[in-house]
Amino acid sequence: MSLLQQHSPLRDLHDRVAAGERIAQTDALRLFESRDLNALAALANLACLRKVGHHASYLLNRYLNYSNYCILSCAFCAFARKKRDADGFELSLTQMVQKAREALTRGITELHIVGGLHPSLPFSYYTDMLRALKSLDPRLHLKCFTAIEILHLAWLARRSVRDTLLELRTAGLDSLTGGGAEIFAPQVRAAIARGKESAEEWLEVHRTWHQLGGRSTCTMLYGHVESLADRVDHLQRLRQLQDETRGFTGFIPLPYQPENNSIPVRTPPTGFDTLRTIAVSRVFLDNFDHVTAYWVGLGLKLAQLALSYGANDLHGTILEEHIFHMAGAQSPQVQTEAVLLKAIREAGRIPVQRDSLYQSLKVWEDAPAPTPTPATQPSPVLEQNLATA
Ligand code: SF4
Repeated sequence: MSLLQQHSPLRDLHDRVAAGERIAQTDALRLFESRDLNALAALANLACLRKVGHHASYLLNRYLNYSNYCILSCAFCAFARKKRDADGFELSLTQMVQKAREALTRGITELHIVGGLHPSLPFSYYTDMLRALKSLDPRLHLKCFTAIEILHLAWLARRSVRDTLLELRTAGLDSLTGGGAEIFAPQVRAAIARGKESAEEWLEVHRTWHQLGGRSTCTMLYGHVESLADRVDHLQRLRQLQDETRGFTGFIPLPYQPENNSIPVRTPPTGFDTLRTIAVSRVFLDNFDHVTAYWVGLGLKLAQLALSYGANDLHGTILEEHIFHMAGAQSPQVQTEAVLLKAIREAGRIPVQRDSLYQSLKVWEDAPAPTPTPATQPSPVLEQNLATA
């Protein structure tokens, strides 16, 4: 029996979702404007269960930021630095390889690599980096670069986006990250990320990558100056491209972090806003299998709750996160596998360790959770990084 009462104002949408029908943008706006979080959860659960059953996934990964120097100055960004800033950084290939080696001893399957638009590193730095990291273990998935980084690299290489992507793939690039989408509406982009690529350019980079057979994720940064209609417009553009290419593996909504930037928003998205955003995304994005509750931005407690609001993925162990923490995120910088498993099990889901393309590596049907071992505890090297980050 449905959790939705017969008299619920969302009853018609429930029936359409139950029948597997696609909902329109006006319907998504209605869902966003509803205060009935339980009804939203019922709809989102329906859509989620149809896609992935009771499974909820996580992956073992490491974040690696090669540099935070950036030629742009997006208003919402607390990560970027100029060369004159004392806390700018830039990693050598040797340092990157050392961090990757250390992470491989913990069983990671993915390196997630992004940075600012560096003012002077040559294109060869990026191809050398990919080759060096890939040579550590050819099975290690290199998920790298946002769309604006790809445009920057194409400019550096003086090649088309297509040829740049092909060259990066030859060097070891496995998939693109979904960052930098922010909110597609031009007036919002102008307010928070002036100078960054347009929505059309972001979508075109991903379209080109998908046409080459590549896969990527996509994101939406919500809770700053955008309207609910802007969020729906953003989701619509993602759904449209997914209809066209089927190249997105998952959607990751990102709650805006309010500290150390110049947007006049002092309160981050609330728990209510986060849960409704995840629920509406799950229902509206009917051509996506996976929706992530990003614990770095949500905190693990809210991310765990989001597993009952349409999310089916908790992202990864991450090991060293800078971008959200420099903007005020209060979450830890690392999660152990044991903690992620516990969160998923408590939420009544079956944990699945996944790879970067959301393929299942291990289903923890009834297996006991792994006991934390020295390999899943922060190492002295990592602890030093965390202390100085
Ligand atoms: S969001 Fe990206 S492009 Fe914009 S300033 Fe930050 S690092 Fe640079």
